[in-house]
Amino acid sequence: MERICSVTDEALKDLIELAKKAGSDTGVCPVETAFLIAEESIKMSCGKGVMCRDGLRQFYLILEDITNGRGKNEDIELLLELCSIIKECADCDLSYTCASEIEKLINDHMEDFELHIKRKSCKNLICPGCHTVHIDASKCTGSGECIKVCPADAIKGGAGLFSVIVQSKCTACNKCIEVCGAGAIKGAGAVKPQGPTEPAAVGSWGAGAGGEGGGRRRRRG
Ligand code: SF4
Ligand code: SF4
Repeated sequence: MERICSVTDEALKDLIELAKKAGSDTGVCPVETAFLIAEESIKMSCGKGVMCRDGLRQFYLILEDITNGRGKNEDIELLLELCSIIKECADCDLSYTCASEIEKLINDHMEDFELHIKRKSCKNLICPGCHTVHIDASKCTGSGECIKVCPADAIKGGAGLFSVIVQSKCTACNKCIEVCGAGAIKGAGAVKPQGPTEPAAVGSWGAGAGGEGGGRRRRRG
């Protein structure tokens, strides 16, 4: 079938390059990459082709669910089926390229997709619904930078205090990790670090710290 598309070759190459960066050795999550490819493709789509208009939207919705920890067991099969249908019936290069790259990502990184769906776990600690974010109170200098950037108002702290993340409010967007100059904020997978639940004086938590709340707590059992 002859495919006609107004999207430039350069833009299509960019999608392919994006997919190439995914992998555990590069620290780039293949599932998030598939989501970004769907998202970028939708932005570029002129919406004239059925596969491009409706198919890409389906990719986006399914991958959005998976990256947010709402993936279902049947989603991988569904995505692969969608890839085949779009590749077979695509009337534009954009939808064909998007489907090809997502299909490759799934087949090359099946374990990552399964982990996201079955264990709600992102090995690269990127996908919001598949990891958590924590502050190491012993490293926090109380700068308050993380509080300023948090879009969910999920960080408690104040002048002279180390900060604490309220897990029930945190959306794991990782924005606070990027601004913490002390390297005190880290993502976590299945094993969560222990820490205080309320802010306290900087330096009062961690090995060697004295006073109430000082010292690392051990996990029970
Ligand atoms: S966690 Fe980092 S950014 Fe937040 S207050 Fe502590 S040192 Fe500053
Ligand atoms: S990960 Fe995002 S939502 Fe969670 S505390 Fe950091 S900035 Fe706030």
